[in-house]
Amino acid sequence: MKIVLFGPPGAGKGTQAKSICNRYSIPHISTGDIFRRNIAENTPLGVEAKKYIDKGHLVPDDVTIRMVYDRLEQEDCYNGYLLDGFPRTVKQAEALQYFLSSRKECLTTALLIEVPGSFIIDRMTGRRVCLACGASYHIKYNKPKVQGRCDVCGSDLIQRKDDTEDTVRERLEVYETQTAPLIDFYKSRDLLRTVDGTKAINLVFESICKILGESYDNIKK
Ligand code: ADP
Ligand code: ADP
Ligand code: ZN
Repeated sequence: MKIVLFGPPGAGKGTQAKSICNRYSIPHISTGDIFRRNIAENTPLGVEAKKYIDKGHLVPDDVTIRMVYDRLEQEDCYNGYLLDGFPRTVKQAEALQYFLSSRKECLTTALLIEVPGSFIIDRMTGRRVCLACGASYHIKYNKPKVQGRCDVCGSDLIQRKDDTEDTVRERLEVYETQTAPLIDFYKSRDLLRTVDGTKAINLVFESICKILGESYDNIKK
């Protein structure tokens, strides 16, 4: 299973990624989480990435691609992985195809979670996240059992600095111009599958499992 998960900010990528990775026992590779961890630890990569992330812009392709290559070369990726939030540009998608083809591998599926812009501000401003494990919650739609605490690891939940209304609008714009072209990129390679991300979290997960089951069967044939 080698899955790419993409969609606008707030589509539910992180939320669904956790469930998919649990079910298929594959590592969850979220470029956003890796950047945030580096920012928290004040590494050179974190210092560089922060300049872009706080404004809602993309971190440059060369930095991001190098970071993902390093991650995909680790041993736990041998039997598959889920990429959440990468690729986000056509250049990144080409770099991933290059990485795969140089190893005679291919993607199982590129899964688009579709959610109209009108849902996004509400989802993002109500989002609360756990920096320790990457779990994401919502003050109305996905409350933690104990307010302000992560169900999975017990750490404090925070509101991301880039989840303000203005920055979210900027990120939506960036999505439309730089990431939406991936729809055609993957469609033309017959890898694109789409789910309606406006449904309840468990229903979205059901649709995803159905798609992944079918894609996996196709590859085995
Ligand atoms: P969301 O889950 O809200 O879509 P992420 O946590 O995936 O956001 O990413 C947060 C920020 O990290 C992005 O707005 C961007 O600045 C940066 N980022 C994450 N992934 C990438 C990528 N593949 N290329 C460039 N920048 C990225
Ligand atoms: P992304 O990683 O795509 O930016 P998240 O998974 O972090 O998105 O979800 C964004 C916010 O919306 C979170 O607060 C999350 O709890 C909430 N959310 C996710 N999926 C749904 C859904 N299907 N319905 C309602 N809220 C959702
Ligand atoms: Zn946690």
